[in-house]
Amino acid sequence: MKYDKNNIFAKILRGEIPCEKVYENEYILAFHDINPQKKVHVLVIPKGEYVDLDDFNRKASDKEIIEFSKAITYVAELMGSKVKGYRTLTNIGSDGGQEVPHLHFHIFSGEKIGKMVS
Ligand code: AMP
Repeated sequence: MKYDKNNIFAKILRGEIPCEKVYENEYILAFHDINPQKKVHVLVIPKGEYVDLDDFNRKASDKEIIEFSKAITYVAELMGSKVKGYRTLTNIGSDGGQEVPHLHFHIFSGEKIGKMVS
């Protein structure tokens, strides 16, 4: 799938639409989900143009992959999610339930997350 430069997260990265920022560095941006499913629901996205995790793993540099992976732990710590635990997930494609075609990991915490899949 070709990367769509007009997807909503690309617009957030370009500063064309706002987000409630949690953390940012050279490689990633983390912000609150606009429609939180749990008390804490944060999204972590790479700054590079990657459709999903598979696209990222195929095309991103080792540095980008390492920094993205580390950022998930960093943001979870920042949100207090390490205290009682959290869930992180990424959706891929239509069967996976992906709505926004820019790689993002969800971080859920602050309460029991419940069933792994429904
Ligand atoms: P997914 O189904 O994995 O693609 O998840 C996309 C997520 O992006 C959903 O949880 C949406 O609530 C969230 N979302 C969509 N638009 C925005 C936005 N403008 N700011 C923050 N989160 C958003």
